[in-house]
Amino acid sequence: MESTKTILVTGGAGFIGSHLCEFLLQNGHQVICYDNFNDFYNPIVKEKNINTIIHNPQFSLIKADIRNKEELNQVFQKYCPELVVHLAGMPGVRQSIEDPFLYFDVNVTGTLTLLETMKKFEVKDMIFASSSSVYGNNLRVPFSEKDQVDKQISPYASSKKSGESLCYTYNNLYKFNITCLRFFTVYGPRQRPDLAIHKFTDKILKGKPIQVYGEGHTARDYTYISDITAGIYKSINFLNGYNIYNIGESVTISLNKMIETIEKTLGIKAIKEYFPGQPGDVGLTFADISKARNELAFDPKVSFDEGIEYFVKWKLSQI
Ligand code: NAD
Repeated sequence: MESTKTILVTGGAGFIGSHLCEFLLQNGHQVICYDNFNDFYNPIVKEKNINTIIHNPQFSLIKADIRNKEELNQVFQKYCPELVVHLAGMPGVRQSIEDPFLYFDVNVTGTLTLLETMKKFEVKDMIFASSSSVYGNNLRVPFSEKDQVDKQISPYASSKKSGESLCYTYNNLYKFNITCLRFFTVYGPRQRPDLAIHKFTDKILKGKPIQVYGEGHTARDYTYISDITAGIYKSINFLNGYNIYNIGESVTISLNKMIETIEKTLGIKAIKEYFPGQPGDVGLTFADISKARNELAFDPKVSFDEGIEYFVKWKLSQI
């Protein structure tokens, strides 16, 4: 980015958000972290996520909900953000099946509340955290932004698709510049504790069995966190109208291979319990990243083996 900016990061205390806040501060920007510290996982973890930046004079923390219009109004009035990176949301495919109303309330009504506040304060630039899950069980691989996406298989996925659609509406009606980034399973230090890499590593270290669904044949395009923050930063520089980009590594790793890599890195064998595939879980994710490569100069750098090594090193440092 040529000039330094005041950037509002919703969900800034979460896994991806805390890394992004750090990265933006390192690059000289003023960062307002807006997060409600919900208990989807332990909020103490979120406090820890931002403990290295909390005293940075360029950093402000607001503990509030994106569905709260009054709080949002006050923040926009006080800090005058020029750009919003909207990462706040209810994540988790399986949990969204249990409580679909909450997922739509936060991920759709929350996004709408934020967009309306931006309209009111004439802030028109936004990056929206979408997800590879919008592709559902896409038959064409790798997944391309050109593919038709109207067959989401979980409330989470369909709430993210609805978020994209709202972003398009605000571009169309009010000329907002919005880039929707479809993240493909993100991992690395501070990864959400509910995600498989983190959960498995934790259990293997404790000598507890891990639960393997679908016989380990499902596969994911895993994206290391520093490649995600680099992708977000590059897309901030190219905000122009409405755009969608896949942000992934463009490599798929089977669940069995993922477990093997963790076992090898830890030097411990996992105790595995096998279960049938879970509803809502897609069989495969695989990003075609040629659009992001060509238009954003997005260039993911961290291989899965390296990334797992960095993650395990971090995990061991936390014990
Ligand atoms: P996370 O749960 O660690 O971070 C989300 C943050 O948003 C949390 O700190 C939470 O407290 C906050 N939040 C939730 N609801 C809020 C609300 N109503 N008001 C204010 N703050 C709220 O999750 P993450 O893995 O860092 O994901 C960040 C975003 O990226 C999410 O929107 C998620 O759906 C999306 N995403 C993540 C992945 C992944 O693999 N981690 C993949 C695709 C998309």
